[in-house]
Amino acid sequence: MDRAVGKLQTLVRIPTVSYRDPEQQDRDAFGGFVEELRAQFPLLHEHLELTPIRTTAGTSGLLFLWRGASSVRPVVLMAHLDVVPVEGDWQHGPFSGEVADGEIWGRGTLDDKGALVAVCEAVERLLEQGHTPAQDVWLSFGCDEEIFGEAAPRAVEELRGRGVRPWVVVDEGGAVASEAFPGISRPIGVVGVTEKGVTSLDLTVEGRGGHASTPSRMGPTARLARAITRLDNAPMPASVPAPTLELFRRLAPHAPLPVRALMANAGRLGPVLPRALVLAGPETAAMTRTTFAVTTLSGSPAHNVIAQKATAGVNIRVMVGDTVETVLEHVRTAIDDDQVRIDVIEANEPSPVSPMTSADDGFRLLEETITEVFPDAVAAPYVMMAATDSRSFTTICDRVYRFAPFRMSKAQRQAIHSYDEHLGVDAFVEGVRWYQRLIERIPSE
Ligand SMILES: [Zn+2]
Repeated sequence: MDRAVGKLQTLVRIPTVSYRDPEQQDRDAFGGFVEELRAQFPLLHEHLELTPIRTTAGTSGLLFLWRGASSVRPVVLMAHLDVVPVEGDWQHGPFSGEVADGEIWGRGTLDDKGALVAVCEAVERLLEQGHTPAQDVWLSFGCDEEIFGEAAPRAVEELRGRGVRPWVVVDEGGAVASEAFPGISRPIGVVGVTEKGVTSLDLTVEGRGGHASTPSRMGPTARLARAITRLDNAPMPASVPAPTLELFRRLAPHAPLPVRALMANAGRLGPVLPRALVLAGPETAAMTRTTFAVTTLSGSPAHNVIAQKATAGVNIRVMVGDTVETVLEHVRTAIDDDQVRIDVIEANEPSPVSPMTSADDGFRLLEETITEVFPDAVAAPYVMMAATDSRSFTTICDRVYRFAPFRMSKAQRQAIHSYDEHLGVDAFVEGVRWYQRLIERIPSE
C-alpha cells in the first residue's frame, strides 16, 4: 500500500476534536498531532520555515513557507487539523484509522486530515526529487476551523504583516463528486468560488409571565411562535447566481438530451430556473437563495410557569447577492412585530466571487490539474453552502478556491460531520498526486 496511507492512519488516530468550550479541548491531542506530523514528514519540516499560529485556547495552527524561485505570485494550500465530535454508530471505530474494503475509516479522513496529509505528502515527495516550486508555496493548517476559530484570521494577519498577497488559495470545500446531479454520470470536479455568509440571530419576546392557570392571549411564547411561522412562510426571493449558471453550462454537454439545451441556456430562462430549483427540494432550493433555519428554542423552565421570556435562534446562510443588512430588513418585514426583539449574534457576508472561467490563469491552474488527474471528471465552479477557513483569506487574495481533490460518493459527502466518514485508499493516493501536479504546474509568471 502507498506509504501515505499509513501516515493518514496514524494522524486520524489522534483525536483533535474541536469544542466551543476551550476547557473541553484536549491540548495534548493537538500537541501530539503537531509532533506526529513532524515525525511523518521530516523533509518538509527540514526545508520549510514554520510559524506557529497560537490561539487563546492553547492550540496552534501551522503556517509553513516553502520558498520558490519567485515570491511574486505565492500560492497558499490550506487544510485543518481539528475535527468535529463523534456521533452516531460507526461501522469502524471513529479514531481507528482502520483500512477495510479499500477504504480508510475515521473522523477527519474527508474533513480534513485527508487533505492535510495529502498536501504534506505531495511536498515531501517533491522535496525528495529536489523540486523547487516556481513560486513561494505556503501551507496554512488551522486548528479550530470547526468552531470558526482564530487560527485562520491570525494566519492572514501574519501574511499581511509580511506583505504577502497570495495569487491563489486552495482550501477544502468541493470534491470530485459522483451522483451530484440526476442524469449526469460523469463525476464533477466542483470548485467553490464563493461561499454563503453565516449569520445568526436571536428572536426574543419578553412579557409578564405568571401562573399557567391564568394565561393571557399572545404571551411571549405564542408571539415568538407566530414570528417563527411568519419567517418560515416568507422565504427570500430565489435567483441563480453566476457560478451556478457557469456550472450548468459546463454540465450541459453531459446531461440527458431533454434538459441539455435548458442547462446550456440556463442564463436565458429568467425566473423559470430558480422556481424549478426551489421545487426540486431543499438542497437545490438552498442553491438559489438565502436560507433561514430556526435552531435553538428556549422559554419557560416548567410546565406550570408562563415564560417571561422566549427566545429562538435563527441560523442564516446569506446568498451571494444579498447582504446581512438586506436580509435583516427582510426578517423585520416578515415578522412585522416590534415586540419581537432581533439581536444579531454573528454576522458574516457572503464571500466575494473568485474568477471562474478558463480565461483566468488562476482558475485554469485548478481546472487543468483536475482534468489531468481525473480525466473523466468535468471541472466546474459552484457556490459553497458551508463555511471554511478560507473566507478569511478573501481579504488578501482575489482567487480563493475550495476544492479537495478526492473522489466522493453521495454517501461519503453525507458522512462529513456525521458517522461512517471514510476515504477510498485509491482516492487518497490520487489526491496526493493532484497536489503534487498542482505545485509542479504553478507558472513562473
Ligand atoms: Zn472542514
